[in-house]
Amino acid sequence: MDSRSNKEAVQATNDDASASKLSCVKKGYMKDDYVHLFVRRPVRRSPIINRGYFARWAALRKLLNQFLDTEGNACEKGHLKKQILSLGAGFDTTYFQLQDEGKAPHLYVELDFKEVTSKKATLIETCSHLRDKISATASISRESGEVLSDHYKLLPVDLRDIPKLDDVITLAGMDPSLPTFIIAECVLIYLDPDSSRSIVRWTSKTFSTAIFFLYEQIHPDDAFGQQMIRNLESRGCSLLGIHDTPTLQAKENLFVEQGWQRAVAWDMLKVYSDFVEAQERRRIERLELFDEFEEWHMMQARDSEGFFVKCSLIFSLMIRLV
Ligand code: SAM
Repeated sequence: MDSRSNKEAVQATNDDASASKLSCVKKGYMKDDYVHLFVRRPVRRSPIINRGYFARWAALRKLLNQFLDTEGNACEKGHLKKQILSLGAGFDTTYFQLQDEGKAPHLYVELDFKEVTSKKATLIETCSHLRDKISATASISRESGEVLSDHYKLLPVDLRDIPKLDDVITLAGMDPSLPTFIIAECVLIYLDPDSSRSIVRWTSKTFSTAIFFLYEQIHPDDAFGQQMIRNLESRGCSLLGIHDTPTLQAKENLFVEQGWQRAVAWDMLKVYSDFVEAQERRRIERLELFDEFEEWHMMQARDSEGFFVKCSLIFSLMIRLV
């Protein structure tokens, strides 16, 4: 399917993501009591990268909270159950944060390559801080890269193997008729376009009421986009999907063509200004000296198919309601 080195390089992007999140947490952009457990070598990112990660985190959390806060989330109250499916979850810690906040859904399922889920399963098993957040009766296997607990499941799969995805969500106990929030943060962009399309089609066919949250890069043809591609390629990692859907409109079309009822894509400038509360923006803008104004404003001046920070990132929300 792909060279071993590309697969390893793609998996390594997960370590970058965790290190960037930790950089934000240490600067006070957001709270995450777990991400440090997944980072071996902490790094300090530049203010513009920190701000970009914060905007991404704030937007996802806002949408997740809206999804979870609507009446009937709490599984223990026997109301309407909800589930979250995270594709290419890496070392993301959202489940553990939601547990602390008393907002965890009935079921939270994370999927990734076995090499990644094995490492995560090992950390969950050995670190009491994480272990305490899943049920005492959980079964954890480092070898098979699995965690099976009442409300949290971590399972290995190559997302390109669509028949296997059916097996995996059955094993995880997902109910396709329940409201489902699907997350794919910086994942589909690493897949070949046919595989991305198949995954998007599979989600629309499988879940009857769902939201698909997609966050990834666009605009490969501008200087920032090209720089990002060169950086990743120099580390042996290909953004196979980047040329297939280079605009916001193309991302929206991809989802509608694959069976989603509505698709909305925004660039990250709009996300930062419209999704992050003004008070919160004021708070984080005081956290560190920000001298990348020229770059920031140049990017802000772009049209609605603009881009955000150095990586030309976009944020999309796809909804399917039957
Ligand atoms: N979503 C996480 C986040 O935002 O922190 C991790 C993002 S990381 C950039 C990309 C993740 O996608 C990696 O953990 C990688 O292993 C996973 N991934 C990429 N292609 C995959 C595939 N074909 N099957 C399963 N996981 C995949």
